Amino acid sequence: MSVLPIPSGLQTRLCIIGDDVLQEIPRFVRETWPNDTLPIRIVADGNTWRVAGEKLQMLLQADGLVVDTPYLFPAEPPFHAEYPLVERLREPLKGHRPIAVGSGTINDLVKRTTFELGIDGYLCCATACSVDGYTSAGAAITKDGLKQTLACPAPLVIAADNAVLATAPFEMTAAGYADLAAKVPAGGDWFIADAVGQAPLNPVAWGMVQKNLQMWLEAPEELKAGDAVRFRNLFEGLAQTGFAMQYMKDSRPASGAEHLYSHCWEMRDIRKDGVQPSHGFKVAVGTLLTTALQEEVYLKMTTDELSALVADLPYLSEEVRNAQVTEFLGGTIFEESARKVSLDKLPKGEAAVARRELLLDTHAAVAEKLRKQLIPFDELKARFASLGCPTSFEDIGLTPEYLRFTTYGAGMIRNRYTIHDAMLDLGITDIICQRIQDRFAR
Ligand SMILES: [Zn+2]
Repeated sequence: MSVLPIPSGLQTRLCIIGDDVLQEIPRFVRETWPNDTLPIRIVADGNTWRVAGEKLQMLLQADGLVVDTPYLFPAEPPFHAEYPLVERLREPLKGHRPIAVGSGTINDLVKRTTFELGIDGYLCCATACSVDGYTSAGAAITKDGLKQTLACPAPLVIAADNAVLATAPFEMTAAGYADLAAKVPAGGDWFIADAVGQAPLNPVAWGMVQKNLQMWLEAPEELKAGDAVRFRNLFEGLAQTGFAMQYMKDSRPASGAEHLYSHCWEMRDIRKDGVQPSHGFKVAVGTLLTTALQEEVYLKMTTDELSALVADLPYLSEEVRNAQVTEFLGGTIFEESARKVSLDKLPKGEAAVARRELLLDTHAAVAEKLRKQLIPFDELKARFASLGCPTSFEDIGLTPEYLRFTTYGAGMIRNRYTIHDAMLDLGITDIICQRIQDRFAR
């Protein structure tokens, strides 16, 4: 079993992965709540109950702990983290010590409900290496039509049993791999934002995610073959990313332009064959797009070539940006907040000139860092393809027009400086989109 290192000061006290971890959970419960006599209640769905919950219930009872009947969501149809389900869990979890047995959705629902009820934390038994959200503070839940990160503390204990993880549909593991690979261009975005003074690099959070990232992502073919070491690495990578977010109280260490693409597509409610692609699958395409953009702007052009390209290009005006917001989100519930975010962060007049100069001045230094940071586009695409992750627009139900459309849109929704903003500031969004377009056709 491996106990993962956790930086001090975080909510989470134990994060463990390995063989026979399930058997250890009764001990973790006793150690986490030493004087607590409240009954335990497992929350699972039909699938996670079958692969882990039922056995865990028996292990807890055999250990002499008081365990109430589980709260089970049905195995089918798939359900999402929607706020009414938090309301539904309130009554069953009141006066209990909750154990979430599942992946992202169940964990997020229990995380938020536990917080709303004022319960002293919960334990998460992870059933798939699918998300970095196990260990993060906050739950991604749809409320009032909007996917939001609702505040709530991370679980006290996260336990993952290799045998359980191995039973997850491989699609979920592949999605987790893509969500971890996203940290590569997300790191690139942080370099860019740091260079232009928009988000100083935090060395501690950076190290937690980036120090071992390439190693965690190595050998996807072994992950596909079910290798336990690769599963452990993936799980550790996702867990450490969540810890980095807990540490910084911000998702910057884990998320850049690639996640903004994914959020935008969610806002447009994209579907493939009638079904929303998973978070990790949308992020896979966003990760490839962001890698392509960073390569195109920083690695395929010298600073002189970039300077020549932008020499006569106009600066983005408030008027044009306003029109872009209307084109992209006009008539939706997101329109007004996007307008505010976009216009607030748009540099105007002398500030726009200075920003463009700063981007050119720092271009060579950032390029040097990106050369070491990025997994080259072709290699990343091959890795995703080998795992069954989507690699084209069509794979997630989109048409090629979405490239330009959402590249403008993704820069509107968060006050987070990424390659999207750098391209807007340089005036090259259309040119660069044109250059990478062909790589995303099937
Ligand atoms: Zn993610």
